[in-house]
Amino acid sequence: MNKQTSGIKLSFLGGVGEVGKNLMVLEYGNEMLVIDSGLAFPSDDMPGIDLVIPDFTYLINNKNKIKGILITHGHEDHIGALPYLLQELPGVPVFASKLTVALIENKLKEHRKIKCKPNCVKPGQTIKLGCFSIEFVKVTHSISGAMALAITTPVGVYFHTGDFKLDYTPIDGDAMDLVRLAEISKKGVLLLTADSTNAERPGFSMSERKVGATLDNLFVQNQTKRIIIATFASNVHRIQQILNICEKYGRKIIFTGRSMLNICETAAKIGELKFNRELVVDINNIDKYEDKQLCILCTGSQGEENSALTRMANGEFNKIEIGNNDYVIFSSSVIPGNEREINNVINLLYTKGASVIYESLAEVHVSGHAYQEELKTLHSILRPKFFVPCHGEYRHLRAHSNIAKDLGMNDRNIVIPDLGDTIMVTKNSIKKSGTVPSGIKLVDGYDVSEAGGVVQRDRVQLATEGMCIVTVTISSKFWSLTSKPDIITKGFVVVKDNEELLEEAKDMILNLVINTNFKTQDWNAIKNNIKKTLQAFFYKRMKRKPVIIPLIIETK
Ligand SMILES: [Zn+2]
Ligand SMILES: [Zn+2]
Repeated sequence: MNKQTSGIKLSFLGGVGEVGKNLMVLEYGNEMLVIDSGLAFPSDDMPGIDLVIPDFTYLINNKNKIKGILITHGHEDHIGALPYLLQELPGVPVFASKLTVALIENKLKEHRKIKCKPNCVKPGQTIKLGCFSIEFVKVTHSISGAMALAITTPVGVYFHTGDFKLDYTPIDGDAMDLVRLAEISKKGVLLLTADSTNAERPGFSMSERKVGATLDNLFVQNQTKRIIIATFASNVHRIQQILNICEKYGRKIIFTGRSMLNICETAAKIGELKFNRELVVDINNIDKYEDKQLCILCTGSQGEENSALTRMANGEFNKIEIGNNDYVIFSSSVIPGNEREINNVINLLYTKGASVIYESLAEVHVSGHAYQEELKTLHSILRPKFFVPCHGEYRHLRAHSNIAKDLGMNDRNIVIPDLGDTIMVTKNSIKKSGTVPSGIKLVDGYDVSEAGGVVQRDRVQLATEGMCIVTVTISSKFWSLTSKPDIITKGFVVVKDNEELLEEAKDMILNLVINTNFKTQDWNAIKNNIKKTLQAFFYKRMKRKPVIIPLIIETK
């Protein structure tokens, strides 16, 4: 057997050393499987960008080797980039659980060109793709339909947890299949990759059911108030609990926010969300009910602009005006990076007289990712030979590798991956064996562009340096200037305080163009000349680099 086929290779196109855009590639010989295809949200230095997706170059270059795409669950950091990947890999089959398939189909509706019907698989089911045999294993997480993957390869069994936690009392009554894990372990697990999100947190995560108990109490304590709950629309179990509590206390529920309406409708259609239809009231009929009869379930738990809750807080939501009889619950965590926005919304709600409850005040949210003791349980059951921590920033991966070491695993059997790493695993060894392209692509509306592309650079420059428009007006009759060039600035200098400097700049442009032969109509050369001269001038005088836009206007 040659070197190429003596081991499995695992490449990380995303999800390690960062939060989001999870995508791994499993490879043996000439066959490949893609595991998840997620997005990340843009950072502050990417103005105007909606989404960040992985660089698919490695997959595009190996198109013919890809046997299938396996999706562990329906969160955006696992499915968000799938439409963009399918554009590059038409016809490659996709496999996911029922709810995940429904969420993917929802997403594909916005990308009409893509012809893809994802295949629905169930926990416990095994499929064969090339030389790989994949068993889907039920896990608990903050969305229903999450599955781990037990993949039998020619070298041994590779187990990937996907996102998970050990919830012994899940809302659907269907706990993580630890018995099946033990059976898989008996056959011997060669390699484990596992969720490291909460590897720094000691102890066990709380059960989702605990959130239900807290919410129930809050409903009892606030019987006369209107209750407004913001939560993640994809947390179907959380929403199920809220629906149950509303039913119990005779409150009607109003769904608001596009993704909340979308996901709840989808989940209800496939039976993942069960409730009496009479419980739900259309927002247009809100006036027919008293505050104490209502619970409003909305999006906006991250303070997102244009979300239902943010608009309510801003007084821009048509049917709902926040007042002192409102009790607002953030049944969610604060995703790092969103602190300022969330804080703003909370302050606005308080200003309008509402009471506000969030994670640090009461147990109104639990994490969907395993804490240290749960990770120990997983490692102890599976007893893998080799371990690669994934799904986390470097510190989380390091913490997770320490857990494996504490449990007795040899340091040599653990590899902490960097973004873009390929790791080779044979029956007896594990090592980094190279890298694959792992940059990012930026999505602006439906357009995908390179990171650091021209548009992106312009936006950053405009935001930090401002702009300067130079107009040169010429007569097309005499091919000469009709007036002195003019300069308009935006976000660059305070005009009032810099009149002299701008006059000087205008004179300089005048001198530059006054002897130009406009008859040649070589507009680009003239514009470039103006641009270069002004760039040098502003930099020399102010150490600034505004975006310079020269305009040549012809008049008769
Ligand atoms: Zn997840
Ligand atoms: Zn995730």
